[in-house]
Amino acid sequence: MQTQYEKPVIQKLHSGLMNKFAGSTLLHRKVKTEIAGVAIDELVAQYGSPLFVYSEQMLRRKFRSIRNAFTTRYPNVTFGWSYKTNYLKAICAILHQEGAMAELVSKMEYDKAKALGIPGNQIILNGPHKPFATLEAAVRDGVTINIDHLDEIEDLEAIATRLQKIIPVGIRLNLDAGIQPCWSRFGFNLESGQAMDAIRRIASGGKLQVNGLHSHIGTFIMEPAAYARQVEKMVAFGYEIEQECGWRMDYIDIGGGFPSRSRLKGSYHAVDVMLPSIEEYADAVCDALWAALKPEHTPQLIIESGRAVVDEAGTLITSVCGTKRLPDGTRAYVIDAGVNLLFTSFWYRFDIALAQPVSGPYEPSVIYGPLCMNIDVVDDKISLPPLSRGTQLVISTVGAYNNTQWLQFIEYRPNVVLITETGDVELIRAAEDLSDLERREHLPPRLATNAMFHDLTTKL
Ligand SMILES: *Cc1c(COP(=O)(O)O)cnc(C)c1O
Repeated sequence: MQTQYEKPVIQKLHSGLMNKFAGSTLLHRKVKTEIAGVAIDELVAQYGSPLFVYSEQMLRRKFRSIRNAFTTRYPNVTFGWSYKTNYLKAICAILHQEGAMAELVSKMEYDKAKALGIPGNQIILNGPHKPFATLEAAVRDGVTINIDHLDEIEDLEAIATRLQKIIPVGIRLNLDAGIQPCWSRFGFNLESGQAMDAIRRIASGGKLQVNGLHSHIGTFIMEPAAYARQVEKMVAFGYEIEQECGWRMDYIDIGGGFPSRSRLKGSYHAVDVMLPSIEEYADAVCDALWAALKPEHTPQLIIESGRAVVDEAGTLITSVCGTKRLPDGTRAYVIDAGVNLLFTSFWYRFDIALAQPVSGPYEPSVIYGPLCMNIDVVDDKISLPPLSRGTQLVISTVGAYNNTQWLQFIEYRPNVVLITETGDVELIRAAEDLSDLERREHLPPRLATNAMFHDLTTKL
């Protein structure tokens, strides 16, 4: 390899943990040469870089550990897989195989679940935008529907009239579980009386019947006690409904929000120290249930955990494609994956490992993505040895939200592979090419390139 001359700079090296890079400056960066038993070299040789890699074993293991934590504490538990967290077909199919229902928040997700063959009785429809036709299809399919706002009540009543039947529904609640931020935009507010008003409004219509309660209090919730407060309030409200309208509460859907093992930016602790275990969440939820429920009444507990299930199963392999020095002397790298593929980098600090050992002094560095945008920064406080072009970095945990929120901006989306439990590698989403991007575009014939060049030459 040809070595290039680089002007020397004097850079003060920061060492140890007690500096402004706390939490991310580990002097000896982890080296990760394989994912789920498959060598990174091999993966890149066959599927290129960047590359999303999922571990089926990790996904199943994670799901089962969450499921077991709850099913060993309460007899009537169901899981809804939050499609928006990751709706790659293979990921959804694995979780459906494990027994999860589909938890959907839009028409597009509804279409996806139907295309995957999921029957209506295995679908939960949440979300603030449920087009009329989707709602009607959902009612016909026997989907569990949780109402977000008053207009949906009207739509469902119109559908009930059309189908000449009483439709069982759930309603979404927002409530104060003692955490910040307190989400108030989904469903009806409990404390203000809005939720009870909605119940009375539904009762007066005579076309719907409320038999379930839903509430999703937030995401990355670090406090198990918040769920205990949520459950307590939901159950109490369920009994209020029963008293007032005679409707029995069949399910209590507590949404998602359990954290994954990724670090939120601004948190200065090691992951392991901070994260409560899934058992602590299950204890909080189930203890609160047992304390609040009347004897002999065990409504279904629905859990819609997203990130906690899939985040750790996903890894992104990227490569250094350029090295530079910033004017202030800071070492910087350009890699082939940025916020286009790592949307969650806006609030996560990723775990970034080297795919091969690299020697040389570590220095604080910045990692930029490939976008022509100033905000395309993957990590701005990372300590790295000198990396050369082609060096691979292994970024985890990236399984949650990145493959749904990824941006189609100046780059193609790359291959996504799944490593099976027996160590085989399966392509679950092929890299895009130009045809994927332009399939929906129409170029009016008058703007065809030939005509354009003709104009240009005549003008010249
Ligand atoms: C996003 C979402 C989830 C999953 O949330 P996580 O924080 O990823 O666990 C669950 N339920 C609803 C209604 C959601 O909108």
